[in-house]
Amino acid sequence: MSRTPVRVLCLSGHDPGGGAGIHADIESVAAQGAHALSVITALTVQDSADVRRIAPVDVELVMEQVRCLLADGVVAALKIGLLGDAGLVPALAGLAGRLRVPVVLDPVLRAGGGTELAGQALRTAVLEQLLPQVSVLTPNAAEARRLAPGAATLGQAAQELLARGCGAVLVTGGDEPDPDVVNTLYRHRAAPRRWHWPRWPETFHGAGCTLAAALAARLALGEPIERAAQQAQAWTQDCLAQALTVGSGRRIPGRSCR
Ligand code: PLP
Repeated sequence: MSRTPVRVLCLSGHDPGGGAGIHADIESVAAQGAHALSVITALTVQDSADVRRIAPVDVELVMEQVRCLLADGVVAALKIGLLGDAGLVPALAGLAGRLRVPVVLDPVLRAGGGTELAGQALRTAVLEQLLPQVSVLTPNAAEARRLAPGAATLGQAAQELLARGCGAVLVTGGDEPDPDVVNTLYRHRAAPRRWHWPRWPETFHGAGCTLAAALAARLALGEPIERAAQQAQAWTQDCLAQALTVGSGRRIPGRSCR
């Protein structure tokens, strides 16, 4: 018997250690019951501690893969992670506008180990061109503040990002000093929705990618945003409880081998 799974088109960087990026996308999307189409935007040299080098994939090669996949079947959501090259942004903004499916953008600005992953040109292109096409932006607190540097509070940062045209902003608080991890979903004309999760005594490599990809899959499967955000967070939390030691740096979410 043949089955046709719901497909999520993922555009992300490759982390050869398997913690973040496209590895996280494929495993997270599969675990929600959908199928990931995986287009790599950048190769990286990194270990479980930090990123050492990013080599963006040629923009035309990325978009040729996208066009080839889209001509072959229907996708139900788009998940965008590390971009690597500002030149990719106009093409992705055009694609997102045409596809009319939920778009989850994880604005990967800096690796947990500290390396910068997006320069000023890329940040500006994302804010000005891609954000109006995004359904849910998933910054951590530091990323939200960097994307809205004029804002006095995290809530104001989220409102500024909403005003740039995205549908919702899910700010994660794993990088904040609160005793719990507090994640907040901001939407237009709705009160913020907060979730409190127990904080682990360590930070993980690839947690943000895991959450964003699980969210994209759940939106692809038709869940409304609040439920999709709840379920994606709960599943990510479960993966952190099963974290794997794959190197001598940070542990990665236990998504597949448990
Ligand atoms: N490498 C790739 C390809 C990524 O997409 C990301 C984050 O999204 C990272 C590295 C950094 O991940 P983290 O900040 O969780 O260590």
